[in-house]
Amino acid sequence: MEPFRLIIDGKRVPTKQCFEVLNPATEKVAGLAPLAEASHLEDAIRTAKVAFKAWRDETERKRQTACRKIAQKIEDHAEELAQLLTAEQGKPLNGLGSRWEIGGAVAWTQYTASLSLPMKVLQDNNEGRVELHRKPIGVVGSILPWNFPVLIAIWHIIPAVLSGNTVVVKPSPYTPLTTLRLIELMNEVLPRGVVNCVTGDDGLGPIMTSHSDIGKIVFTGSCATGKKIYACGAETMKRMTLELGGNDAGIVLPDVDPKQIAEGLFWGAFINTGQTCAAMKRLYVHDDVYEDVCEELVKFARKMPVGNGTDEDAILGPVQNLRQFEIVSALVADAAPKGRVLMGGDVPRHSTRKSGYFYPPTIIADLDNGDRLVDEEQFGPALPIIRYREIEDAIEKANDNPNGLGGSVWGRDINEAKRVASKMECGSVWINKHGMIQPNAPFGGVKQSGIGVEFGQEGLEEYTDTQVVFS
Ligand code: NAD
Repeated sequence: MEPFRLIIDGKRVPTKQCFEVLNPATEKVAGLAPLAEASHLEDAIRTAKVAFKAWRDETERKRQTACRKIAQKIEDHAEELAQLLTAEQGKPLNGLGSRWEIGGAVAWTQYTASLSLPMKVLQDNNEGRVELHRKPIGVVGSILPWNFPVLIAIWHIIPAVLSGNTVVVKPSPYTPLTTLRLIELMNEVLPRGVVNCVTGDDGLGPIMTSHSDIGKIVFTGSCATGKKIYACGAETMKRMTLELGGNDAGIVLPDVDPKQIAEGLFWGAFINTGQTCAAMKRLYVHDDVYEDVCEELVKFARKMPVGNGTDEDAILGPVQNLRQFEIVSALVADAAPKGRVLMGGDVPRHSTRKSGYFYPPTIIADLDNGDRLVDEEQFGPALPIIRYREIEDAIEKANDNPNGLGGSVWGRDINEAKRVASKMECGSVWINKHGMIQPNAPFGGVKQSGIGVEFGQEGLEEYTDTQVVFS
């Protein structure tokens, strides 16, 4: 099996050692990733620093054109990237799986390429002229998780390069391959050193977050790692965008039609087999419709085929890795005796599993705040349902969590749904849908779900420092 290579200074760079990347559907080797040493990371940062000097001085139009060419490259290689993504990440090719993720990467790149950072005149009168300029920061370090290895790489890289920065990317050790290939393709249209990719173990992360030649870290991953990164970056006063964990609540109001909302509830919770930051991770349902909502949701969920992502009929895939599989298993084992298991929950023990980290879609009713499956982020295909009678109680329980990424309200009376939404402590809130992010709307968490936003003009500006010119 031919190993993948690091991408540094526009070149494919071999390493002495490689590590195996497992296909989560088969537990067989999907590919060999290069195991970078600290010296490779130093090379990547040095080359990005050199490339920055020229890239920051390019015209915005040239950088926009380069981003459009990246979109075209991804589109031209869409099927190759989707197949590789399914092999290492496990998500199905179809449904909201790999082909959808690659399509999203193209769309996000195209949209972001249309943004710009014009100078703003704050004052122009006989007392003087004041201009606000947006300037690139320098070398951006991008640290990625394993749930959307292509789309999240695009969210980090494209606004960074569009605004004149250069980038060193570190993918998750669980899913380095498609990101390496993506960055190899980007290097066919970008000048050398503008985007580099270094893969290896978690130990590369702290080198990046403490490095004096990296000006900004953009990180998507768990709250625990985010806190370490935040602390580590303080010494060099790094700019930070931290997109961290979520424990999104959905609140179902008493006036819903349970049958009508079942599909939306299902996808809100089970997109990417539940391994989505802004997935619905706990569902509060009013007593009047509680049993009907449970029934319709389970009816819909039972129709969803789970299987190896290469099977064209599969809609949900395996959990991506054994560590996450064990987290989901432990949370469900804790919750099952406390609640009512409506479906799933009966996972074969690890020792008897045939192959693959398949976890059955699981829905457990009659749980409450204080149960681990409600309080903690499961990041997998297991949804707890909580009954409520008074809407104020539901809002209080939804907010009683350190996370504040997303939330949703489901109801026919849109004004009442919006009233409830306005009381939810989260960065995004959806009405009668959940998790529908889009490239023109800023996205980020409040409370411990992160710092800063991605997407849209506000997200782009996070890759810049301001300089005010008084004349
Ligand atoms: P993780 O925190 O375990 O790892 C993420 C990345 O951090 C990996 O590349 C890892 O190698 C690196 N890393 C590990 N230790 C580090 C350190 N000390 N310093 C610097 N980097 C380090 O997260 P994960 O398990 O890959 O991803 C799942 C989590 O990500 C979930 O909590 C999920 O909610 C969150 N997530 C958030 C968003 C969002 O936009 N808010 C999106 C996707 C995922």
